[in-house]
Amino acid sequence: GGTIRFEKVGFAYDPERQILRDVSFEVPAGKTVAIVGPSGAGKSTISRLLFRFYDVQSGRITIDGQDIRDVMQTSLRDAIGMVPQDTVLFNDSVRYNIRYGRWDATDAEVEAAAALAQIDGFIQDLPNGYDTEVGERGLKLSGGEKQRVAIARTILKGPPLLILDEATSALDSATEKDIQDALDRVSRGRTTIVIAHRLSTIVAADEILVLEAGEIVERGTHAALLAAD
Ligand code: ADP
Ligand code: ADP
Repeated sequence: GGTIRFEKVGFAYDPERQILRDVSFEVPAGKTVAIVGPSGAGKSTISRLLFRFYDVQSGRITIDGQDIRDVMQTSLRDAIGMVPQDTVLFNDSVRYNIRYGRWDATDAEVEAAAALAQIDGFIQDLPNGYDTEVGERGLKLSGGEKQRVAIARTILKGPPLLILDEATSALDSATEKDIQDALDRVSRGRTTIVIAHRLSTIVAADEILVLEAGEIVERGTHAALLAAD
């Protein structure tokens, strides 16, 4: 659960240049809202505000009615899972990277998360193909494979809120479809914000917001927006 609301949010990194203007939307508990728009529109800024890397300058953001300025940053980090654009992994096995932050997870739980993220055959490998302690062993993972590790870690962490930032951008189109299916499964029942450049990569959003130059210029279902294109 957890309903996220942006109420007339305004934000600027620099007073000379407004980045978000009166941005209002709601992600009802368990639903998925996608934010699409060109590079520089302010999409990543929205996720930075949710984590309170910065605080809003006007309006407010609430989770279940509580202004997030009253919520500790550490609590927000626990509550929000993020699959970033570029995943940086620890130079330890994939299994270690999946378990990171959930040290109590059983091997079976780690393997179930790995299976859901379609990590097959490289769970023992080192993401960068080498380890300063043990010497070379394993494969150098591709961007897509690293992203699957990030997805598996998020699945295992099981946060109530999720942000998927261009989560399939590092993948070729065949694996993109597989990962998209895994992400759809992960986001089911969690309050999810998907950030994407292209409408075509979003399949399971309940609502899509089009953000341009910091303003929501259009909103609707996937089908309605594709028809209007
Ligand atoms: P998007 O995710 O849609 O590509 P961003 O939210 O990353 O857009 O960025 C929106 C605008 O804010 C861009 O013009 C970007 O250059 C600017 N910006 C992003 N981060 C900072 C920052 N830390 N300081 C100043 N400007 C920033
Ligand atoms: P991306 O969304 O592409 O992963 P970022 O969110 O870090 O990358 O930045 C988005 C845009 O904001 C990029 O164009 C980047 O150059 C710009 N940007 C990031 N940080 C700053 C900053 N501190 N000052 C100005 N522009 C920034």
